[in-house]
Amino acid sequence: MTVLSGREIAARIRRETGERAAELNERGGPPRLAVVVATDDGGSAWYVGSIARAAEKVGVACDVVDLGADASTKVIADRLDELGRDPKVHGIILQTPLPKGVSAPELAERIPVDKDVDGANPASLGRLAAGLTAFAPATAEAVVTILEHHEVALSGVEVAVVGRSTTVGKPLAHLLLDRNATVTVCHSRTRDLPEVTSRAHVLVAAVGRPALIGADHVRPGAVVVDVGTNPTEDGGLVGDVDADAVSERVGALTPVPGGVGPVTTALLLRHTVDAASR
Ligand code: NAP
Repeated sequence: MTVLSGREIAARIRRETGERAAELNERGGPPRLAVVVATDDGGSAWYVGSIARAAEKVGVACDVVDLGADASTKVIADRLDELGRDPKVHGIILQTPLPKGVSAPELAERIPVDKDVDGANPASLGRLAAGLTAFAPATAEAVVTILEHHEVALSGVEVAVVGRSTTVGKPLAHLLLDRNATVTVCHSRTRDLPEVTSRAHVLVAAVGRPALIGADHVRPGAVVVDVGTNPTEDGGLVGDVDADAVSERVGALTPVPGGVGPVTTALLLRHTVDAASR
C-alpha cells in the first residue's frame, strides 16, 4: 500500500504562496486573512492556531477575531459585514462550531464571495455547481489536489464519497464531476454501504466516525482518501478509515494526521493570496 502523504504537497503550496505573498507585500501590504471565532471548543482553537502559525510562516497576515462563545447572531453578522467592507482584509473564515441557535450558512452569506476563501457562503457552492469561478471549501479542494498530485486517474472512474456535508461531501462531488468522475455520494441512509463503496476505484471518507471504513468497504487496489479527523482519548487523531484493516487490500491511502489536513491549511492561505491578487 502506498501512503499518500499531504505534507510535501502542503510544503510546495506554502512555498509558492509565500513567494506570491512577498510580492504583494512589496506592492501594497500583506495579504490578510480574518478568522472569526465564536466558540471555546478546544479542537477549533487548535485548528485556528495552526492556520495562524502557517499564515505567519508564509507572510500572510492573520487576524483571529474572537467574539466569545456566547456571541449573538447580530454581533457576528455585524463583524462579518465590517470585515467584508475592509479593503485591507482579503479572506474571511467563519470558524465552526458557532453558539447554539446561530446558523452558520446564514451568517456565511455575509462573507463576500470574492473573500470567501473557505467556500462557506452558499453562493460559492452554487457558483461551483454552475461551473462559475468561486473558492471551493479548502478541504474538498485538498482531496482533489492530493489525487491529482499523485496522478490518480479520475476521468470516467467510479468515485464514492461517503458524507454529504455542505463543507466537504457536496462541494467535493462537484469538483470530481468537473473532472469527469462518475460520482456516488453516500450518507447515513445509504443502504448497504460496503456494497456501494467496494465498487469504487477511488473512495473518499468524510464522515467523522473512527474506523467506519473497513476491509469489506474497499475494492482491491482502490485509492482511499481519509478526510476524517476524530480525536482520540490520548490526545491523538484518527481518521474514518481503519488503516490496519484495509492496508492489505487498498492500493493507496492518505494518513491521518498528515494527509488532507496540511493541504487544507495550505490551500486556505493560497486562496487568501489569490483573493489579494485580484
Ligand atoms: P458532518 O457535517 O458531520 O457530515 C458527516 C456526513 O457523514 C453526513 O453526510 C452523514 O450523513 C454522514 N454519515 C454519518 N454517519 C454515517 C454512516 N454510518 N454511514 C455513512 N455516512 C454517514 O461532517 P463534515 O464536516 O463533513 O466532516 C467530516 C469529517 O471530516 C469529520 O471527521 C471532520 O472532522 C473532518 N474534517 C476534516 C477536515 C480536514 O482538514 N482534514 C476539514 C473538515 C472536516 P447524513 O447527511 O445522512 O447525516
